[in-house]
Order: sequence, then structure tokens, then C-alpha cells
Amino acid sequence: MTTLTLQISGMTCGHCAQSAQDALNKLPGVHAEVSFAEGQARVETDGSVDNTRLLDALASKGYHATLLDNDKQAAGGNGSGLHIAIIGTGSGAFAAAIKAIEEGAEVTLIEGNEVIGGTCVNVGCVPSKIMIRGAHIAHLQAHHAFDGITLNQPHIDRGALVSQQQARVSELRQAKYESILESHPDITLVRGWARFADTNTLVVTQDDGSEKIVTADRVLIATGARPAIPPIPGLKDTPFWTSTEALVAEQIPEHLVVIGASVVALELAQAFLRLGSDVTIMARSTFLSKEDPVIGEALVNVFEEEGAQILLHTLPESVAHDGKEFILSSKAGEICCDRLLVATGRRPNTDRLGLDKTGVETERNGAIVINDHMQTNIEHIYAAGDCTNDRRRDRTAGQGTRRRDQYPALHLSPVAGQRLHDRLSETESGAGPRRAGKPDSPHQEI
Ligand SMILES: Cc1cc2nc3c(=O)[nH]c(=O)nc-3n(C[C@H](O)[C@H](O)[C@H](O)COP(=O)(O)OP(=O)(O)OC[C@H]3O[C@@H](n4cnc5c(N)ncnc54)[C@H](O)[C@@H]3O)c2cc1C
Repeated sequence: MTTLTLQISGMTCGHCAQSAQDALNKLPGVHAEVSFAEGQARVETDGSVDNTRLLDALASKGYHATLLDNDKQAAGGNGSGLHIAIIGTGSGAFAAAIKAIEEGAEVTLIEGNEVIGGTCVNVGCVPSKIMIRGAHIAHLQAHHAFDGITLNQPHIDRGALVSQQQARVSELRQAKYESILESHPDITLVRGWARFADTNTLVVTQDDGSEKIVTADRVLIATGARPAIPPIPGLKDTPFWTSTEALVAEQIPEHLVVIGASVVALELAQAFLRLGSDVTIMARSTFLSKEDPVIGEALVNVFEEEGAQILLHTLPESVAHDGKEFILSSKAGEICCDRLLVATGRRPNTDRLGLDKTGVETERNGAIVINDHMQTNIEHIYAAGDCTNDRRRDRTAGQGTRRRDQYPALHLSPVAGQRLHDRLSETESGAGPRRAGKPDSPHQEI
């Protein structure tokens, strides 16, 4: 006879324990006692049934069970024996998954998108930083102050840039995400879109429309955010880009209008400017008004010097597309362009999670409210990353609390960088704003 202990999640009353016990005792050579209070089953088996049949018998009744082996029981880590479901496979999700299995937990990751890795590696930091670096190199060829190096108007093959960028994205996704799954068989990946049925149960809708139930002792919501589209009349009926389409666009627009002035909007605006587009930026307020208006103010000069047209405190009143061009009506008049990029912030992916079934508290914009331990108001439900109201990702304007290495990843010429630095030093030392002057000599551009 072998004695095993199973950790069971999803039982809500003594009746559940009885039903779990009955399911186990139907198996040949098995004698089981299930304790609702402990959430565990003590099982004696004569070895004629495989352990997975024990787990399957419980799953058939809607309970998730894990086998507590001696090592895990002895280790006694915080996660020992727990089953943790993580919704999302971005960087936060993976960091949590690895930590949880180190502590002895069993982890199920759930991903609805066809690729894993979330925003950063697929459509965020990685491709955008590659794109702006390429644009920077192109810009330097035509703008430097070294007498001995010929200034060059670079020939840009945008298709080749995009295919190299996307190859790097795949490479990094493999190295940082896919390979982790391959080397950690104790992390299970379930494909599909998850929503809560109750605080311990997730329903995952898979590609073929079937539903899979995942029950867990703890849930981490790491579902990220998606582009927020402003309610400008006509806009949604036009083929506008968000950052996702802009990053992989194989043509360089002749005239690109960017609506938005956040970090993502400005990075992409500058990249296209440097790749050869005429760029107009329309900002509802000022540059970086939410992130850092002081840096934003200095950046307006930088962008104007590079040739961007900037319309502050201006949003289109309507947008139309005639099959070829976008037409934007605004207080600055009618503006036509061949491409329109909308980068006006991101909205948390929480509206389709069935949070009403859990009582998890959100802010008005859908951001999940968490405490310093990333815990929601429901004790065993946690949240991390862009789907939360985590204020540690923000800063208050003008407080001078941002370190220089946290500046937006825009590529500035040394002169522009120096001006930005001066401007911030003034602000940080309380000296107040000052307009940056033109460089005295071209050598300051070096
Ligand atoms: C263009 C751009 C450039 C950026 N550049 C930078 C940068 O340089 N530096 C920086 O620090 N940050 C940058 N960011 C922000 C950064 O990418 C995000 O902050 C980060 O990736 C968010 O990670 P996350 O884990 O919260 O969510 P994500 O990485 O978005 O992961 C969420 C995952 O959850 C999945 N999901 C959502 N709902 C469900 C569901 N119901 N069921 C199953 N799966 C679900 C999604 O498919 C997605 O894969 C950039 C963002 C963009 C858009």
C-alpha cells in the first residue's frame, strides 16, 4: 500500500469534500478520506491506478488537485502545494511563475494571444527600441558636425528594417519566454481567454470555442493593457494605426499625423520623422503632460528643430478617410495625411475578465486596485503590471524624482540632451524655466 496526500482546490463546503471522496473511492484499489477543512485528501492505493487517474477523478468533479510529494512537503515554502493560476504571459507573469515554482507551487499560465510574451517583447519595448535606434542611425548620417565625414542622405529600405526587427523580436521571445516554458515542465500553459466564474475558478475559452475550467488557490491577474482610442467622431471608421501597426508598417508615410504626446507617441513620431516622413503631432494638452511636463516642454523645441509640426492643446474634432487620405478637422484647420497614428494612452485589459464575479475592486478606468503586496481587495487574488493602478509606475510632474536613466527612450542629439539636462537641473534646483538657446557652434552638436 502507498499513502499519498493530494492538495485540492475548489471545494467550498463539506458536501464538496464528500463528492471528491466518493470520486476517489470509485477507483479500484483506492481508499481515500477527504478533509474540507484541510483542503486535502489522504489516499491509500494498492498501486493499481496511476496517480493521474486520481487527479482526473477530482477534475471530473470540478476540483483541481496536486500531488504533494515528500520533497515539496518538506520544503514548506510559501507556495508549497498551492496551485497558482496566472492570467497573461508578459514579463510580470513570467517572473511570478518562476518564483512560484521555486517556492514549490504548481503554476498554470493562461494566454489568449497566439504568441506568448505579452506587450514588451512582441509589440512594445523591443520592436520600438529597435525601430528608434535604426531611425537614429539614419538621422546621424545626415546630421553630424564632423568635417571629415561626408553627410549622407540615407537610403531607407523600411521593409528590410522591419524584417530584421521582427526577427529579433522572435529571437528574444524564444530566449526569454518560450525557452523558459520548455525548461520548466512544472509550468503549464493553457491557451485561451480567461474569465472568472468565481474567486477560485477561471473559465478559459479556447480557439475552437471549447471551455476549460482552471481552479486555483491563488490567481495573479497580469493581463496588461491595450491602446485606448479617443471618441473622436469618424475616427473608428478609418484605417488608423495604433503603435502595434506603426511598428511593423513597411511603408514610410509621406505625411504622418500623430494624435497623442505620451512617450510612445513621441518615440514613434520621432522615428518616422527621422526615417523621412513629414510629421505633425497633435496633443490634447502638452508633451508628456501625464509623465513629465517639464521634460515635455524641453522636447517641444527638440522636435521643432528636427522639423515636426506641433499643435499643442489641439485634438481633431472629426476624422474621415476618403479611401486614400485622412482628413482631420480641428481648430488649426483641415489637415490631410496619408497615415494617422493614434497613441493616446492604454486602457487596462480588465473589462472581459468577469471581475464582477469576484468583487475585485477597480478604478473608473478599469485599473485593478492593489496594495504594496500587489494584492487586490480579495485576499487570494493578486494583480501586476499595466492592468493595475500601481502608482510606482508613474511620477508626479516637476518633483524631480525621475532618475536620468528613466527618461523616455528618445534619441536626442548631445546638444538637445544637454538642454534637457540643463532644464531639469534648473527645475530640480528650483531655478524655474528657461528657454534653451541655439548652439553657439556646430561643434556643440558633436
Ligand atoms: C510601443 C510601446 C513601447 C514601449 N516601450 C517601453 C519601454 O521602452 N520601456 C518600458 O519599460 N515599457 C515600455 N512599454 C510598456 C511595456 O511594454 C508594458 O508596460 C509591459 O509590457 C506590460 O506588461 P504586463 O505584464 O503588465 O502586460 P502585457 O505584457 O501586456 O501582457 C499581458 C498579456 O495578457 C494577455 N491577456 C490579456 N487578457 C487576457 C485574458 N483574459 N486571458 C488570457 N490572456 C490575456 C495578453 O494577450 C498579453 O499577452 C512600451 C509599450 C508600448 C506599447
